Amino acid sequence: MEDYPKTLLEFEERFGTEEACIQYLFNVRWPEGFRCPHCGCPRAWPMRRGLYRCVHCRFETSVTAGTIFQDTRKPLRLWFRAIWLLTSQKYGANALGLQRVLGLNNYRTVWTWLHKLRHAMVRPGRDQLFDVIRADETYIGGEKPGKRGRGAAGKALVVIMVELKAGKTAWIRLRRVPDASGHSLEEAIKGGVKTGSTVQTDGWGGYSGLSKLGYTHEIIRKEAIVGKNLLPEVNRVASLIKRWLLGTYQGGIHLSHLDYYLDEYTFRFNRRTSYSRGKLFYRLVEQAAAIKPILSRDICSRVTNP
Ligand SMILES: [Zn+2]
Repeated sequence: MEDYPKTLLEFEERFGTEEACIQYLFNVRWPEGFRCPHCGCPRAWPMRRGLYRCVHCRFETSVTAGTIFQDTRKPLRLWFRAIWLLTSQKYGANALGLQRVLGLNNYRTVWTWLHKLRHAMVRPGRDQLFDVIRADETYIGGEKPGKRGRGAAGKALVVIMVELKAGKTAWIRLRRVPDASGHSLEEAIKGGVKTGSTVQTDGWGGYSGLSKLGYTHEIIRKEAIVGKNLLPEVNRVASLIKRWLLGTYQGGIHLSHLDYYLDEYTFRFNRRTSYSRGKLFYRLVEQAAAIKPILSRDICSRVTNP
């Protein structure tokens, strides 16, 4: 059962103690009850705070082990607050803002948390688009005044995939690509769209191999200029992303970390009609408990492989 706070007051009342946060994480992580990660046994002795020992194989585990909260030296209370702030505000929060609200001394800690949480926002392979999809590419970054233009070198090329339902934008997937070659675009589509779908694009040759990959490919516009004159639904998403990056981050993001911001934007956009912000909180805790721990050094290494 999805159980989450609906208002700030409810949040404050529920998650005031470390025990309450541990219990919540326990319920989200093991909704059917404890499972030993080593042998699958459903019974464990509770040890000290949040630690369990399997009655069968004696393996010791904690509710945070194997999640992005693993080895954190900060209380879950603070993590939960960060997640609440990130999900309860329509446009999210930047590291500086969060650092102030949480009263943390170290900017780097908050910055790393945010990247880890953004990482938890995507469920690879599980959020693929299906049916009728429009895809096009846009350039992001490098347009800040005062910055010397270096053409495409200072920008990132991003494929925007939009699933249409009754002619309207329903869901999106975003994927950064190194270039607009057939190989790069096909990889992006394969990652974001289920085979069997119809993919509508402009006449850019990079998309011409899609039918061989199990998609129905439709060219709905003959012109083919990479990064310009986007298909309308894609264009709307592109402007919204750019506005969000400017508004929430004052455009101050490093392009090398763009993938994380794209993940966050996708999460927000795909859940924009969710009437309860608390549900987003629940979803993010759930996903943070379901993915493997991320080392700080991996946050930097991910960028070398866009
Ligand atoms: Zn066990």
